[in-house]
Amino acid sequence: VAIGSDRCHELAALFSSGDAPYYQAVPLDFRDPEHASRQIQEAVREKPVRAIVSTDDHTTAIAARAAVALGLATNPVRAVEAARNKRLLRERLAAAGVPPPRHQSFSIDADPARIEVGLPCVVKPTFLSASRGVIRADDRPGFQKAFARVAALLRVPEVAAKGGPAAREILVEEFVPGIEVALEGLLVGGRLEVLALFDKPDPLAGPFFGETLYVTPSRLPAALQSALFDVSAQAAAALGLREGPVHAELRIPPGGGPVVIELAARSIGGLCSRTLRFGAGIPLEELILAHALGRDVRPLGLARERAAAGVMMLPIPAGGLLREVRGQNAAAAVPGIEGIEITMPLGSELIPLPEGASYLGFVFARADSPDQVEAAL
Ligand code: ADP
Repeated sequence: VAIGSDRCHELAALFSSGDAPYYQAVPLDFRDPEHASRQIQEAVREKPVRAIVSTDDHTTAIAARAAVALGLATNPVRAVEAARNKRLLRERLAAAGVPPPRHQSFSIDADPARIEVGLPCVVKPTFLSASRGVIRADDRPGFQKAFARVAALLRVPEVAAKGGPAAREILVEEFVPGIEVALEGLLVGGRLEVLALFDKPDPLAGPFFGETLYVTPSRLPAALQSALFDVSAQAAAALGLREGPVHAELRIPPGGGPVVIELAARSIGGLCSRTLRFGAGIPLEELILAHALGRDVRPLGLARERAAAGVMMLPIPAGGLLREVRGQNAAAAVPGIEGIEITMPLGSELIPLPEGASYLGFVFARADSPDQVEAAL
């Protein structure tokens, strides 16, 4: 296994020779997908690889480019680029007749006082994830404040470097009311295999949209679930995605059909995949790797285990320094709670949404029913 990361080459060398001699570490320039793709081709020249698997939104474009150059199975570069840019995603969906929320994009230098928008609206960057920079506005002053706040975030040097030209752009779109779900799927030869549908029982009404609860299986009626599967499959097809994991966020406005808010060409983020087990207890990552290697994944089992499962992403309630975490034993003693991972190291600076980019950690639960999982979390 070769692991490409944006670690500096000195550290990468340490990692491949010392602690983990079983893998080759390949330092990549994540800011330039074309360059990073050439670095991958160079690194695997002597020891060819059979597949390239990206692990987040940001690296999908690098992996797809390198895979195309090496003649490996992959999604088209054009498709993964649309999946990681919210404006492109909306344009492609609209062109294919899968209606996205009404939207417009503006330069970060635009004067929000001169922008006409419908209200309520959502102001957001096009390329960040984990709800970073996503703000709801209900009135004109609120919109102007939100726009200035997103523009300021996009000017932070680290964020500007990561986004390149996409960091010069702000998307403003209609606020879609209603409940929200997340769909986890695997594309196999252009066909969407739905692996899990998660309810999000905590209302996500804004002004910021930190995720908290994910619970599966969904308690929505079967007909609505199948409408959600269909629109997700149509959205993947509209982008031209054909292979590998997809993670979609959809809303169901009262009285309307499902609306795709997000469709990413990657699996569920953070540690949340721990909620998922398939067939005889296979983790999501194993399915993804087996599929990437060209194996038939159906015999492994695409059906999720019978138990209900869920995760709580622990939001950052306020800015500051993380000094201490209390109550973990009490939380672990709640029936149904299976694990607690505080992923933020003690001493870290905590930045809440919308500027922040992380969670404090994750709490996992398993039980007989989704209601029990939700109650435990
Ligand atoms: P990210 O990729 O950072 O998660 P999203 O575009 O998926 O960004 O937005 C994060 C969350 O914000 C969504 O899951 C949803 O709850 C909310 N949201 C974003 N856009 C809209 C919208 N147009 N209408 C209603 N809610 C929205």
